[in-house]
Amino acid sequence: MTSKTRVVVIGAGLAGVRLARRLGELGTPALLVGEEEHRPYNRVLLAEVLAGRYAPEVIALPAPGGLVRTRVTGIDRAERRLDCADGSSIAYDTLVLATGSNPVLPPLRGLFTADHQLPEGVHAFRTMDDCLGLSKAVRPGVRAVVIGGGLLGVSAARALAVRGAQVVLAQQSERLMERQLDPNASRLVLRHLRDLGVEVHTECRVRDVRSVGGAVRSVEMADGYALDADLVVLACGVRPRTGLAEQAGLAVHKGILVDDELRTSDPHIHAIGDCVQHDGTVYGLAAPALEQADALAEFLAGDADSRYTGTRSLTRLTLTGPGSPFDLAAFGETEALPGDDVVQLADATRGTYRKVVVRDDRLVGGVLVGELGTVGALARAWEGAEPLPDDGPLLHLLTNDGGS
Ligand SMILES: Cc1cc2nc3c(=O)[nH]c(=O)nc-3n(C[C@H](O)[C@H](O)[C@H](O)COP(=O)(O)OP(=O)(O)OC[C@H]3O[C@@H](n4cnc5c(N)ncnc54)[C@H](O)[C@@H]3O)c2cc1C
Repeated sequence: MTSKTRVVVIGAGLAGVRLARRLGELGTPALLVGEEEHRPYNRVLLAEVLAGRYAPEVIALPAPGGLVRTRVTGIDRAERRLDCADGSSIAYDTLVLATGSNPVLPPLRGLFTADHQLPEGVHAFRTMDDCLGLSKAVRPGVRAVVIGGGLLGVSAARALAVRGAQVVLAQQSERLMERQLDPNASRLVLRHLRDLGVEVHTECRVRDVRSVGGAVRSVEMADGYALDADLVVLACGVRPRTGLAEQAGLAVHKGILVDDELRTSDPHIHAIGDCVQHDGTVYGLAAPALEQADALAEFLAGDADSRYTGTRSLTRLTLTGPGSPFDLAAFGETEALPGDDVVQLADATRGTYRKVVVRDDRLVGGVLVGELGTVGALARAWEGAEPLPDDGPLLHLLTNDGGS
């Protein structure tokens, strides 16, 4: 790559900003194009802003040099040029798509007004604008319904409860955060939310959103039960934002398909972060987005051997509230298959729970709630996928913090 090569990155989120910063440090400055009007920020910490723990400025990311604020509306691959919503166009030699995810909007009756907007009071939870909109509307006593009991819904419900809202969380499946947690850990999360005053309904499907004069009034369940609501948060998952890539004719399946050089089906276009699918996996998590950004920065700055081969990613969540913080970490397979070894330690009084799953002498997953001292050592054993030492009982895995 020559010094005249113009690298343009679409999306000033976690992955795009990290890539631009690393490229700058490596002497290959890039132009970042982002549509959000705020200074780039750490999306993972939005719930802390909603909870009132951090001001928006606190979660700002170190600003990269060249940032243009506009939305890219089209990619002309033959001309290697981008068309933007403000009428400008931008030429590139190498393009990187870091367009992130869109929230999934569930198929509920009444979710859109006649002019295809969400009713007043109904918010997704993805951007700083969503967060500021919710923050403005939440007051002590406001009736809020959170739809979805995954990581996002649990974080939103906790934040709104901390701000004094009367929160109901409606979860379609039978337990909370089922993608990451086993049933025991889910129960502890449920208990934590209930202690904060959140009313949690599981196996509960929302069917309708009812509005009057364009503002939400209630949500109705499939069984006809109605909940009054001044605020509704949609936390029903995310989907890779692939529209631009599809329009440009790039290969897209669930996400934009990339190889180990994070290259799309066009050799001049790479992609990183939530929008990509690498080796069959769409991550939707911060750690893989950052690892991809780092690997691509090295590659574009001239290290032809730099490759991304996948991330074994740990989910961590800290729920701070009026009482003591509630920490949890989960990785890999948290539920055992027949023949696996399982070690668990539970302390109901302290609300702590630790469990690891071992298969053929290898750690395949684990979950820690309330007591995270061993998380570093466990994560290393899991990431390395090395056979476990056979010089002691497996219980050591849960009690020996390995100096971390
Ligand atoms: C409330 C919340 C809590 C989360 N908590 C965790 C957590 O605890 N742990 C974890 O690992 N992950 C968490 N995540 C997920 C994490 O934030 C994402 O995995 C991460 O942000 C992905 O980074 P990204 O750069 O790929 O996408 P994003 O951060 O979404 O950035 C993409 C950017 O591209 C911009 N963009 C898209 N299209 C265009 C266009 N055409 N023109 C210009 N700009 C465009 C978007 O506006 C956006 O700013 C959380 C997410 C949310 C919303």
